[in-house]
Formats: sequence, structure tokens, C-alpha cells
Amino acid sequence: MEILRLITDVKLKIGELKKENKTVGFVPTMGALHKGHLSLVEQSKANNNITVVSIFVNPTQFNNKADLEKYPKTIEADTNLLEQHSVDAVFIPEYSEIYPDENSTKVHFELGNLDKVMEGKYRPGHFNGVAMVVKRLFEITLPSKAYFGQKDIQQFTILNYLNNNYLKQMNIKLKKCPIVRESDGLAMSSRNRLLTDEQRKEAAVISKTLFAAKDMYKDFSIEEIEQFVKNEITQNTKFEIDYFEIVNSENLQKISNNDKSQPALACIAVNVTDSLRLIDNVEFEPKES
Ligand code: AMP
Repeated sequence: MEILRLITDVKLKIGELKKENKTVGFVPTMGALHKGHLSLVEQSKANNNITVVSIFVNPTQFNNKADLEKYPKTIEADTNLLEQHSVDAVFIPEYSEIYPDENSTKVHFELGNLDKVMEGKYRPGHFNGVAMVVKRLFEITLPSKAYFGQKDIQQFTILNYLNNNYLKQMNIKLKKCPIVRESDGLAMSSRNRLLTDEQRKEAAVISKTLFAAKDMYKDFSIEEIEQFVKNEITQNTKFEIDYFEIVNSENLQKISNNDKSQPALACIAVNVTDSLRLIDNVEFEPKES
């Protein structure tokens, strides 16, 4: 596995591969890798000749300084894991490679208002930072396909919008991979490493509650389900809910009791502490009308 730190080296490598008509699958990550990331890698390997992973903790997508400072960094373990999974190349750029000057951090994207709801409300500027880094990484790695997790469903929806509206000429297909969970249902996340034992135990309540809510969807109103989720989380954990919303999975707008035949997603964000936040989501079966 090649470890590349410079854009020129990535371009050289990709250029050679493209000459041989090889397809490149790309998996952007922020490192502290776990089985969720590896599922994306495996999917890419199954669908492409070559798989490139990037590891870059992107400061422009962090709206909370303490969150950025505490973000786990495990580069050696990450590169070992990727090597074991026979990844072809890993791109680990310095900040100045991605953002060579001040202007490169000031690009603004119009994201179809998908960035105004849920995470967007609580993390101002977050999705613009994600769009900046992903556009830049796509331009460097020129993939045929790029792999993302359902775990960050709003991010995936926004990146699809970015891809269709800003990057169409690059002809990249974005692929969504299912959420990988721990045995107690907690969605895997790099930030889970920061949980204390007690918080880790309580964190299982999040997905348990979402799955219980899914079973209620057919027979209970949205308001009843919202109340149930709020009660379960506040009674069984010390976490604070930022939001729980049942939204249309395409436009991320809230679903009303009359639109339950639409494809729906229940999305939640909780604050474990001021600088540690967990998100999760579960698809709800549309109700036959
Ligand atoms: P991150 O390193 O957190 O930026 O995540 C990199 C990619 O891995 C994103 O597309 C995430 O959605 C995806 N990912 C993170 N956690 C999981 C998970 N538990 N299951 C599947 N994909 C995940």
C-alpha cells in the first residue's frame, strides 16, 4: 500500500492507473478507522480495480473547537488496518495541501437548503466545510465512484446535491453504504472512543429507541413518537437531545401525519457533553395509503 502525502504524488499515481483504464474507488475519511469505514473500503474494492482512502481531519467542517481538538487521531493503527485490507493507496495530506491559501477556505456553496435543517441548524458552516473538502479531494483523486455511509445521511444527501450541481462534468457516482453497528446497536463512530464506560452503556439507548420508534410508526402519530423518543432518552441517559425528526429521505423535510406513505428516515442527534455529540438514523417503512 502506498502512503501518499502530496497532491503531486497522488496525481502521478492516479494518472498511471487511468492510462491502464483502471477504475478508482475513493473512500474519504477523517481516520480513527473502525468497521464502518472498512465496510466502505470493502464495497469499493468489490466495485473498482483500485481503492484509494484519504485520512484528513478537516478543520473547516468543525464548528466546535473542542470537538476538533479532541478528535481521535490514530494514524499508525489506521494505516495498518488499511494495509491489512489491501487498500492500494492512502492519501494523508497536510492542511496546506488541501487549503493552500486563505481564499481556498472561503468557497461558498449553495446546497439546495438541504444544509439548513437538522445538523445544519446545530452546526453552522459544517456542510459548507464538508463540501469544500470533498470537492477538493475529488479533484485530486478523480474517482469513478466514491463511498459514503448512511450513518451521515444528511451529508450523503448534500454531497449528492453537490455532485449533481457543481461536479457533474467529473462523472463520479456516489454510493451509500449501510450503517455498521456495535452488538448493542450503537452506530459505530470514531467519536465513540471518547465515551466513558458509563456514557458508552447509555449510548446504546439511542439506537434502541430509534428501532422501537420504527415499530410504532404505523400505529402512532408523529407527535406521540417524538414524545416517546424524548422520554426514553431523557429517562435512561444523561444526554441532551438536539433534535429528533422524521423526515422525507430525499428532501430531508419533516413528514406530517398525512404523508406517512413517503420514504421516511428518523434522525437523531444527542449531546453527550458540550463537545461530544452522537448522531444516528433509521429508515422507517412507508405506510401504505
Ligand atoms: P468520518 O471518518 O467520520 O468522516 O467517516 C467517513 C465515512 O465513513 C463517512 O462516509 C461516514 O458516513 C462513514 N461511516 C462512519 N461511521 C459509519 C458506520 N458506522 N457505518 C457505515 N459508514 C460509516
